[in-house]
Amino acid sequence: MLKINKNYLQLNESYLFSTIARKIKAFTDEHPDKRVIRMGIGDVTRPLCGAVIDSLHDGVSEMASADTFRGYGPEQGYDFLRGAVQGYYASFGVNLDMNEIFISDGAKSDIGNILDIFDVDNTVLIPDPVYPVYVDTNMMAGRKILFMNANADNNFLPLPDESVKADIIYICSPNNPTGAVYDYDGLKKWVDYANDCGAVILFDAAYEAFVAEDRLPRSIYEIEGARRCAIELCSLSKTAGFTGTRCGYTVVPSQLVFDGVALNKLWLRRQTTKFNGVPYIVQKGAAAVFSPEGLVQVRENIDYYRRNAAVMTAAFDEMGVWYTGGKNSPYIWFKCPSDMKSWDFFDLLLNEQQVVGTPGAGFGRNGEGFFRLTAFGKYEDTVEAMERIKKLFATL
Ligand code: PLP
Repeated sequence: MLKINKNYLQLNESYLFSTIARKIKAFTDEHPDKRVIRMGIGDVTRPLCGAVIDSLHDGVSEMASADTFRGYGPEQGYDFLRGAVQGYYASFGVNLDMNEIFISDGAKSDIGNILDIFDVDNTVLIPDPVYPVYVDTNMMAGRKILFMNANADNNFLPLPDESVKADIIYICSPNNPTGAVYDYDGLKKWVDYANDCGAVILFDAAYEAFVAEDRLPRSIYEIEGARRCAIELCSLSKTAGFTGTRCGYTVVPSQLVFDGVALNKLWLRRQTTKFNGVPYIVQKGAAAVFSPEGLVQVRENIDYYRRNAAVMTAAFDEMGVWYTGGKNSPYIWFKCPSDMKSWDFFDLLLNEQQVVGTPGAGFGRNGEGFFRLTAFGKYEDTVEAMERIKKLFATL
C-alpha cells in the first residue's frame, strides 16, 4: 500500500491570506460604497522596466529563427546572465566565481530545493516571526526546528545564543515580515557562530535592493568568513518586478565544504538532475536588469516604493509609534496601538478606515501584537492610507 509523506499532515493550514480575503469580501459586500486600500500585499505593482521589456522582445525574436533558436540551456543558467550577476556583486566589492552562481526561477523554489542536499537529521534554527516557507519546507522533510525569538527587545534582529546548537540557520535581511536589517557587526556574529559550530547559513537576500545605507550589508559575502558557511538566495522579484516573470539566483561558494564534500558540487548535481533551467527569454530579460540602463530604470521603480515607505515612516514617526523597517526595506512592522492583538487591530482598521494590512500573528508567535504594511502600493493610495491610519490612532 502506498504511504504518503505524513509530514505534510503536520503543516499548519495557511489561513492568513485566505482569512484576510474573506474579511475584505465580507466588508465590501456590506459596504459597497467604501473604498478599501490594500497595504498588505507582498507583490509589486510597477511594471517591468523598458530595458527588460526590450530584451524580452529580442529573446522572443531569436526564438523565431532557426539560426538563433535555443532549446535546452545549461541547467545552472546561461553564462551571459551568470556573468551579469557576477558583475553586479563585484560592483559592491563581492567577488564570485561564475560557477558559484546558479540561476533559478525564483528564491522560493530554491529555498525549498536546497534542502535536498542536507540530511533530514540536521537541526534547523529559524527566527520567529518569519517568512513561512522556511518552516513549512523543513516540516515537509520532518526536520527538527528550533525557533529564535525576534522581538522588540532585540529590534527583531536576534543574535546567536551560544547554548543553542543548530546545523542549518535561516537569516533573512532585509527581513520579511519585519523590515529589520542586520548591520555588519550583527551578521559577523552569525558568521562566526556558524563557522564555530559547523553550521550552514541560508541567507535570504530577496530584498537586498532596498538597502539604502552604506553602513548595512546587502550580501552576506561582505562579511569575512561567510564564504565558508553561507549560501545566499536572491531574486529579481522585488528588485526588478519579476514576481510573475520568475527569475532568481543562488550562490554556493566553492569553499563550502561539509562532511568532506563541496556543497557546490552537490547543488550542481541536484540541479542538473531535477531542473532544466529558466527559459532563455526570461534569462534575456533578467540580464537586462544588470545593464547600465536597466540598473537605472530598476532603481527608479525601487525609488518609487521607497518614497511610499518614507511617507509611512514619517507618519509613524509623527505619531510616535514603535516600528521597524521602512528605511531599507519595503515592509513597515509596527506595534498595534493600546496593546491590541494583531487580528483585533486588523478588524478595527478595516472597519473604521478601510485599510488592509497583515496581522503579525500570521508570521509566528512573536508577531502577535504587531502589524505589517507594505510599500508596494500606489503612491496616492499610500498617502491616503496613512492619513486614515493617523485618524484611527487619534481616536485610540
Ligand atoms: N524570500 C522572501 C523573504 C520573500 O518574502 C519572498 C517572496 O515574497 C521570497 C523569498 C520568494 O521570492 P520569489 O518570488 O523569488 O520566489
